Amino acid sequence: MGYEAIIGLEVHVQLKTKSKIFCSCSTEFGALPNSQVCPVCLGLPGVLPVLNKTALEYAIKAALALDCRIAKESIFARKNYFYPDLPKSYQISQYEEPLSSKGFVDIITDGKLKKIRITRVHLEEDAGKLLHEEVKDSTLIDFNRCGVPLIEIVTEPDIKSPREAREFLAILKSILQYIGVSDCNMEEGSLRCDANISVRPSKEETGKRGNGETGKELGVKVEIKNMNSFKAVEKALEYEMRRQIKALEEGKRIVQETRLWDENKEITISMRTKEEAHDYRYFPEPDLVLMEIDREWTERIRKSLPELPEARKARFSRDYKIPDYDAGILTSSKELADYYEECIEAARRSPVADRRSPVAGRKFNKEIANWIMSELLRELKEGNIGIEECKARPQALAEMMTLIDKGILSRKMAKEVFVEMFETGEKASWIIKKRSLVQISDEEALTKIVDKILKENPRVVEDYKKGKEKALGYLVGQVMKETKGRANPQIVNKLLKEEL
Ligand SMILES: [Zn+2]
Repeated sequence: MGYEAIIGLEVHVQLKTKSKIFCSCSTEFGALPNSQVCPVCLGLPGVLPVLNKTALEYAIKAALALDCRIAKESIFARKNYFYPDLPKSYQISQYEEPLSSKGFVDIITDGKLKKIRITRVHLEEDAGKLLHEEVKDSTLIDFNRCGVPLIEIVTEPDIKSPREAREFLAILKSILQYIGVSDCNMEEGSLRCDANISVRPSKEETGKRGNGETGKELGVKVEIKNMNSFKAVEKALEYEMRRQIKALEEGKRIVQETRLWDENKEITISMRTKEEAHDYRYFPEPDLVLMEIDREWTERIRKSLPELPEARKARFSRDYKIPDYDAGILTSSKELADYYEECIEAARRSPVADRRSPVAGRKFNKEIANWIMSELLRELKEGNIGIEECKARPQALAEMMTLIDKGILSRKMAKEVFVEMFETGEKASWIIKKRSLVQISDEEALTKIVDKILKENPRVVEDYKKGKEKALGYLVGQVMKETKGRANPQIVNKLLKEEL
């Protein structure tokens, strides 16, 4: 306590182009090692790189979606360093005059809107991949990833907690997926995040100690690498915060260095002292021309941007009249938002929905939202699959929801039906027929059960007659229990009222 963290992130995102950034080799993931290489991406002597126009277009698209200004002129630079996965011994990146700068992303933290400024978004090429575990005591190199287009997104040190860092990454990922420039798959390495963190006494604390305005001074920053998930980023930052505070309390000096996150031990380990920018001997790439970015082209790209998550969330709560919280979850990924809208659309087209009043429609929108957020998301999580691979299609879910609405299917039975629908992709009406799961709507049969329940609960009956409305709900529940959830609740309601 008494300390605050200052966090900045560097996010590398692989662009979803078919070919590499400076040659025509394929970027397809999972190909045989070193099968997607050529003299350009292997850095053989005498070759010339040529910029992939789609990579530039995607980078501009991402920069615009993050509210960055696109530079009129931009250049590539050589970042010089030796590493076995970098055959040229330099990476083509951008240093001075990057593609874009000065953007921002809004995040919600403690229920309040907060701006995280984006320093820059620039283009660069990826390096190869070292494989340490394939052959004992050896390291193999796969150059397929060499020259795959990346954008690097750098934030200002505006992030104040590990939680905020995670929040920012989730929003960034969703924006990039919405605009379709990257699949942001962390397992396949198409989204990677490094973090810079330092701690300093918080403002209140500095005041208390009578140190005056020193709260503005930044502590020594440490870079953390090797975090493979948003959760890992949060955990690594939490660990690092604790480590640095402990060191400061013990009067130790914090070293500017790069540390690796060890996922299994949940600690960060010192890797090397952090290099400064001048260690890389950046200089303008002589093999590539200056990029003059046409304003009209930029404007055309701006106009082609789809509805972004924030705007879609606002539209969901406005048009479908669902709570902000629901709208936030449903628009957290483009695929999930599409799923919800397709569901609503299918339900509207169904003959039952046509007779709906706007009020009933609103209730229905909320019910579909509830079902997706509870049942569907749970099944997806348990099966560890993405919504795009989900067999239960929106049309099938819409049909099931109308069956619940018509009283053919009880909510309890629907849960079972849905599990099967999720596994097989079959329609609810088919599953019901196959398993003879139809609701009991036979009044004669239900009256017998209703009478039995009334006899067993004289106290509750008394309460109801005294005007306690809630008592009815309890009695309905008892009938449902007796019929193992198969009784039609509307009819049970009607019969109970008549008998009472
Ligand atoms: Zn190539």
